[in-house]
Amino acid sequence: TSPRAIRNFCIIAHIDHGKSTLADRMLQLTGVVEPRQMKAQYLDRMDIERERGITIKSQAVRMPWDYHGGTYAFHMIDTPGHVDFSYEVSRSLAACEGAVLLVDAAQGIEAQTLANLYLAMEHELAIIPVLNKIDLPAAMPDKYAEELAHLIGCEPEDVLRVSGKTGEGVEELLDRIVDEVPAPVGEAEAPARAMIFDSVYDTYRGVVTFVRVTDGKLGRREKIKMMSTGATHELLEIGVSSPEPEATDGLGVGEVGYLITGVKDVRQSKVGDTVTSAAKPASSIIGGYQEPKPMVFSGLFPLDGSDFPVLREALEKLQLNDAALNFEPETSTALGFGFRVGFLGLLHLEITRERLEQEYNLDLISTAPNVIYQVKDESGESHEVTNPSEFPDGKIDEIREPIVDATIIVPAEYIGAVMELCQARRGSMDGMDYLSEERVEIRYTMPLAEIVFDFFDQLKSRTKGYASLNWQASGDQAADLVKVEILLQGDKVDAFSAITHRDHAYAYGVKMASKLKDLIPRQQFEVPIQAAIGSRIIARENIRAIRKDVLSKCYGGDISRKRKLLEKQKEGKKRMKMVGTVEVPQEAFIAALSSD
Ligand code: GDP
Ligand code: MG
Repeated sequence: TSPRAIRNFCIIAHIDHGKSTLADRMLQLTGVVEPRQMKAQYLDRMDIERERGITIKSQAVRMPWDYHGGTYAFHMIDTPGHVDFSYEVSRSLAACEGAVLLVDAAQGIEAQTLANLYLAMEHELAIIPVLNKIDLPAAMPDKYAEELAHLIGCEPEDVLRVSGKTGEGVEELLDRIVDEVPAPVGEAEAPARAMIFDSVYDTYRGVVTFVRVTDGKLGRREKIKMMSTGATHELLEIGVSSPEPEATDGLGVGEVGYLITGVKDVRQSKVGDTVTSAAKPASSIIGGYQEPKPMVFSGLFPLDGSDFPVLREALEKLQLNDAALNFEPETSTALGFGFRVGFLGLLHLEITRERLEQEYNLDLISTAPNVIYQVKDESGESHEVTNPSEFPDGKIDEIREPIVDATIIVPAEYIGAVMELCQARRGSMDGMDYLSEERVEIRYTMPLAEIVFDFFDQLKSRTKGYASLNWQASGDQAADLVKVEILLQGDKVDAFSAITHRDHAYAYGVKMASKLKDLIPRQQFEVPIQAAIGSRIIARENIRAIRKDVLSKCYGGDISRKRKLLEKQKEGKKRMKMVGTVEVPQEAFIAALSSD
């Protein structure tokens, strides 16, 4: 297809504003999906996406569209909306010339609307503003058209009104895409260059790599080269998704499609990397390539120790399809053998854990997640700490923690509540803007550790669900952090160690000590539970001793009954872990680690 007849666009929106549903209508109107085969959120294919109703992986679909006597080829890229996956959003945008900016006509602009709009503007995309869900009785299209026009600097009449549910206005939108999204430009005769914006592992086909060609042509049966690593691969198949895969002769300037090389691991085909021809390689990469960087770390342990090999295998399988997932073995006195796993964020953690439990039938326990700290010890040496156990014991010179720029959008009446919460989470305010008379955008710099855990839930509950939040990493800052350790009869219980701000250390210590006091059964001897920072004890509880002589009941009784009792006791002990001389039922660890 000639680049002049190609339009590459994406749909960007706050979560739930209707991207996937609008994509469904486009699939239908352009005729690429038969009415019989249509199902809601057609492009969300992973089970977990369908269950949670969210898009995790980007999708690219080629669709024909007739307009003014010509046939155009659309490549539509449906992007994931959640902040954990924003790197993929950014790569998807880099593959487009235009963006449909979708806003729910009953909700108005939300935090990720802004975040995605700014990203689209950075990539210099043509932006088509669209209000969705105009069929809803609660829709206020006039009001929000005004808000949207104000935001992007156009007239309210330029804001298109559609319903992804009924299909109203969608044809008009497709026509506008032809008119307003620029055709791709590139050098047809130059060495081939294509950017990878997604790669997925398919059990039958191996890794399927989605690319957008910027220059030259990638042909069938060609040998390709990954420019970040220099690795070369034989092309087994090249084609387009429409939305089912269709093999073609090749992909030219501006075209979006897939490559199959037979590699088995998405890390060999990295999002953001540039693909070129091995025979006639390009000299420069397309740019903007970044390794996905884990932000949150947590220990994952199988409840049943014999499941450790299964967990390893499951993580390796998931990694085939998730370049951002990384892990290494970890041993804990309390929890046994497991892995330290790095995630992009908490949603990524939750989804991964859920998939491990559902798809691999594992029962898992995860330790309290933490972010990455840079710890400089007295000698001036810097350590990257992703696990409290790596926290240096000696004197510490400086600790730096990651920070983020956070944007919160709320109705004006909740400004006070939001500021109070952000202040309590060590935030510092950067500014505030009114989007309209009753809605404001509030900007804060905050420690990642304060925002990544239950911040969003807190924010929602303090604003009756009206607040939306977005954030992005913005470097690090020095912070007064300490490691709190929990000791049972003087022995450290590693699974409960945590790195916290000094101001929160006491509360953490008291909470853990009193939780454990209730959870650990009384022993033959008194067991002190202590929380400590270094050698300083900050909290203490005692489990009083008991003398449980089960055999006393059997005096004079028969010997077989005695033996039975002893066996029963042994049975119970199997699920016990020894911490020093203290027997702790595994359930106690699990209960103490699960959030309250
Ligand atoms: P996404 O997260 O942006 O992909 O949003 P979805 O397409 O998954 O839609 C979120 C929810 O809004 C779903 O329950 C949809 O059925 C609903 N929805 C999407 N578009 C419309 C619309 O035009 N009208 C109405 N009434 N509901 C819609
Ligand atoms: Mg979706």
